[in-house]
Amino acid sequence: MRYNLKKEEYDKCIPYIEKNAKRMCGNILGASIVILGVLFVVSLFFPQVERFRLVYAEFFFLMLLGYFVHTKVSFTWHKIEIYLVLGLCLFFGIDLAIQYPGNKAIIFPLLFVILPILFTDNLRNMAAFLIFIVTVYIIILVMYQDPAIWFQEMYNILALLVLALFIHWSMGREQCLGYLSRAANEEMIVKLKTMKQELKHLSENDVLTGLSNRRKLFQTMGRIESEALRAPKGVMMLDIDQFKEYNDTYGHMEGDKCLQSFGRMLHRVEEQADIHFYRYGGEEFVGLFWGEQREALDQLAATVCSETHGIDLGTVPITVSIGTAWCESVGKNYEQWIARADKAVYFSKRHGRDCVHCWNNLPSEERNMQKR
Ligand code: GH3
Ligand code: MG
Ligand code: MG
Repeated sequence: MRYNLKKEEYDKCIPYIEKNAKRMCGNILGASIVILGVLFVVSLFFPQVERFRLVYAEFFFLMLLGYFVHTKVSFTWHKIEIYLVLGLCLFFGIDLAIQYPGNKAIIFPLLFVILPILFTDNLRNMAAFLIFIVTVYIIILVMYQDPAIWFQEMYNILALLVLALFIHWSMGREQCLGYLSRAANEEMIVKLKTMKQELKHLSENDVLTGLSNRRKLFQTMGRIESEALRAPKGVMMLDIDQFKEYNDTYGHMEGDKCLQSFGRMLHRVEEQADIHFYRYGGEEFVGLFWGEQREALDQLAATVCSETHGIDLGTVPITVSIGTAWCESVGKNYEQWIARADKAVYFSKRHGRDCVHCWNNLPSEERNMQKR
């Protein structure tokens, strides 16, 4: 638990405290209206409190005026006007107390006025206002009352002043601490949410190419298997040709740039077709195709082949070998799907590279081959 508050911390809380203050001030004024109304009605039937009837009625209307001011004006004006209304109440109460010595009417202004003021403003303004009121009251008492009474009154009102200031200070500080701890929690939650998103992004995407990664591919296939996601109709597997040689010739850094450009090209294709690409590993990629037509998948593969020629790296042009597999009737053994597309890539590699072959069109001995 913290007890000390820095000035800048307090300043940060002021808008929040003021908002709270306005709400609580409204509540207290509302409650005062009800209580004073009840007191007035009771005074109609009980002669013991009859002499306060006028006081209840007058305070009732002043509180009503305070409530009206409170709901109708902006906060800055609200503060000024509420001070005016409540100040009027206080002087009215003081006047009553002086006119009728022994009349304890002053308890009303103290209760009904000091309470709303406690929730009206910050400590400095509120303290200045109360000290001013109390000083004026004491001066009037000293001037117009006999010493026995004014000493009693002064004694009481000073005690109330100290109590009011302490309550106000303590409430303000508690509100401030509460606000700061909530604000810190909210900030932490926002940070955690951002970190969670970043972590999710990092865990699902390949840093180099920006495409989804192998982990995401298997996660997606798992979701398809559990029926949470619609099944794709076909799979495409891509393997950049002679990439080791490319690395050996131009260096690993150029190899990385090549993979980045290839990734960007796949991104563009993704945006225009019903396919999503994943970096499977190294210079190998997998695409899950959600289109309906088998020809569309092969057409897309041919497009990727020719787009690859167009990648300008300032080196020799690169090429890619692609294998597709149309798996609509095969059920949900997605690893099997990938294995088929992989066989088709291997076939493309052995048939000159830079070309597309579909597993479904391969000779049966190729299809049934155990390993690539
Ligand atoms: P093929 O046409 O038969 O596919 O031959 P290849 O040279 O492309 O295939 P191979 O499997 O022999 O070589 C793949 C190379 O890809 C080897 C490895 O250094 C390179 N490679 C894998 N991942 C990265 C990477 O992230 N950055 C770079 N620069 N090179 C990578
Ligand atoms: Mg390879
Ligand atoms: Mg390769």
